Amino acid sequence: MSAHQFRPTILREYDVRGVVGDTLSTDDARALGRAFGTRVIRNGGTKVSVGRDGRLSSPDMEAAVVEGLMAAGIAVTRLGGVATPMLYYSVYALETDGGIMITGSHNPPNHNGFKMMLGKGPFFGADIQDLGRIASEGDFESGEGSVEDADILDSYVDRLLRDVSLGRQLKIVWDCGNGAAGPSVNQVCMRLPSNHKVLFPEVDGTFPNHHPDPTVPENLEDLMAMVLERGADLGIAFDGDGDRIGVIDDKGRVLWGDQLLTVLAEDVLKENPGATVIADVKASQVLFDKIAEFGGKPLMWRTGHSLIKTKMAETGAPLAGEMSGHIFFKDRYYGFDDALYAAVRLIEGLSHRDEPLSAIRDALPQVMNTPEMRFQCDDTRKFDVVVEVKDWLSGQTGIEVSDADGVRVNTPDGWWLLRASNTQDVLVARCESQTEAGLERLKGQLRAALTAVGETPPDI
Ligand SMILES: [Zn+2]
Repeated sequence: MSAHQFRPTILREYDVRGVVGDTLSTDDARALGRAFGTRVIRNGGTKVSVGRDGRLSSPDMEAAVVEGLMAAGIAVTRLGGVATPMLYYSVYALETDGGIMITGSHNPPNHNGFKMMLGKGPFFGADIQDLGRIASEGDFESGEGSVEDADILDSYVDRLLRDVSLGRQLKIVWDCGNGAAGPSVNQVCMRLPSNHKVLFPEVDGTFPNHHPDPTVPENLEDLMAMVLERGADLGIAFDGDGDRIGVIDDKGRVLWGDQLLTVLAEDVLKENPGATVIADVKASQVLFDKIAEFGGKPLMWRTGHSLIKTKMAETGAPLAGEMSGHIFFKDRYYGFDDALYAAVRLIEGLSHRDEPLSAIRDALPQVMNTPEMRFQCDDTRKFDVVVEVKDWLSGQTGIEVSDADGVRVNTPDGWWLLRASNTQDVLVARCESQTEAGLERLKGQLRAALTAVGETPPDI
């Protein structure tokens, strides 16, 4: 294979992703397989597992990736259609030296891409840029690879349920959104003694019912309605590749990522007193306060599933999570983001508590916050805006600024956040206060900061 040039836009921070037939072709997939295989071999490995989601373009992309890996001399284990966490699991269970998941995650049906794992760590940032260099220089390893198929569904579900002990029986509604989690959710429902109702488990890459992104409330409407209709204890939804979770309480309300993590942290900290629990900078102060109250060490970290996984490994944290619904359990599990495992642990925890999820949620300190607000800002400008806002803040009094990721500003009213997305041409903001008037003052300060650096503030 000769040198290959990727479109620079597809080599992103946490994955490789593009529009099929436009920015992403099977030639790209083949070159990516060979470049990744080259990295595995130079890392001392020989074996790679490959999985794919249910998108219509995924089988062709898979065939090309496997060809590329084999040309580099890799022994490939093909898992077929799986959720992303099953691909991660295979690296542990099959003792492969890395994995490639072919998935467009929650993006439109004509998008596709690749998430990778080298050894047991995430493969991102400079590693992804290095694939571009290897391909453009034609700096590939060569060899004679092989390919075999493996079906890991039973073994994966065994592992999910291995040490789960349920208390009272719950009524649960699941919404797979026709994404890749469907088959494993069906298996869990057959084996976990509860009253289950499963919506849209058929894998269908055209997503005929609703888009598989549980952070968008309209995608949860079917689930909310079914939870209320059945009088269920909770509803659980997944994104297209099964690494993000959405939860609905028994009153049909969304339990946001930080609220879910608060509920999970209480149980995990009972078993791991004093442990660190990590959440991203978008999370509510309520979560950090509660982690401390449960006897844990709260740690605020940068948004991005690869960054969180890396920080978890560094700190030995048994639990971490993001507002986006990536939840990471190291406690009794591997530490990667697996929405179905998070669901099983939530069910286990609730089954041992008498109060309904809605009561647990309503017992949390009530604060007023905005959702995550996203507004367009050119890639060439977005990081500078944050730096300039930080400079502007140094001239303000009565505030505290944390710059772990963007700026998170604490004032007597609460906090506000401004950060640049690593994956899109957007700035992200959020504000939270105890009072309505405080929230307005925080929004005003955010608008003033943006105006001061020459940006048009969003209409908030
Ligand atoms: Zn995902």
